Amino acid sequence: MIETFTDAYRKTKDIIKEQTFEAEWDKFLKNEVKDLLGDDGPNCAKASSLNKLHTDIQHPEGVKQTSRTVEADAILDAARQGEAVKLQDRAAALKTLRHLYFQSSRGAQSIWVCSLPKDYAQWPYDELRGMSAVHLKTRLAQTDEIFTSGNMKKMSVGAQDALKWCQKVLISLASAKGKDKKSRDMVSRWFADENVDEIALDSLIEKLTAGFKKIQDVCNSNQLIFSDDIVDRSTQPNLWKTTYALVRDEKLNVIYIEKVLLGRSGTKLEWAITIVHELSHREVKTKDHFYSESGLKPNAVSFPSDKAIENADNWGFYAANVNGELTKGKITTVLKEP
Ligand SMILES: [Zn+2]
Repeated sequence: MIETFTDAYRKTKDIIKEQTFEAEWDKFLKNEVKDLLGDDGPNCAKASSLNKLHTDIQHPEGVKQTSRTVEADAILDAARQGEAVKLQDRAAALKTLRHLYFQSSRGAQSIWVCSLPKDYAQWPYDELRGMSAVHLKTRLAQTDEIFTSGNMKKMSVGAQDALKWCQKVLISLASAKGKDKKSRDMVSRWFADENVDEIALDSLIEKLTAGFKKIQDVCNSNQLIFSDDIVDRSTQPNLWKTTYALVRDEKLNVIYIEKVLLGRSGTKLEWAITIVHELSHREVKTKDHFYSESGLKPNAVSFPSDKAIENADNWGFYAANVNGELTKGKITTVLKEP
């Protein structure tokens, strides 16, 4: 069973390489889509191939009025429905790409989004496994996606904010290293307990600098992917409904977006904090000792400095605070001792 975006992506690469599709499609997939699917993630220089793939599925041979059925038929034709062997895999490869988007690009940063059908409970390869052509058609006609266009817009704004935050944080950390009192106090506020002296504070500043550089690099990469967490959504719905986002141990830079961020409470501030939080898990191996709801104030008794520096929410809220994004009220609420 496919668990991660990286696995679905690799499988799609393999199927396109190994399988034969309808002649025109085969040429297009093997020449152009092959270059779109780079080894380290999708290639933004080839994003137009992805758009063409969407158009060819939704408007095959210039069909003006698309529909679910038109799409399903187009995928089945492209996948050569007359050839039963591995038909499901060929259809799943096209269906996976049908729901992958090049969302936005700004400077070096490119955002990709994988928004799978709401009615699917597994990645397309597992969802379509073993189905006859008739059943395939019904499943392929399910096109309502988990993310709205508003959700996707928030992903790119959130990623831009997170990048901007990291840049400002690194400037602040450089000042802190240079003994600027205000910048050092900010580090202390979020990471130092009462036993931390100036030398220990310098070491926290070093750790944060190295970590935020890595987070900044991912934010500024052209392969940051936001994906539906389809497996948890169907197998652990209660957890999915109460989570903001998560990352998994996988090769590509993927952040899975869960229900809380998709709902009304997914504010601009929460999106950016969550992205920094999740990328700190990915890049710095931070943990979730405490969330903001229980308080994030470091203290020698319940939350010593060595725990605060490895706590993802402290990284997120510190970045927000450096960027002037937290109100006084919010700082007071969050800075209670857990
Ligand atoms: Zn976390």
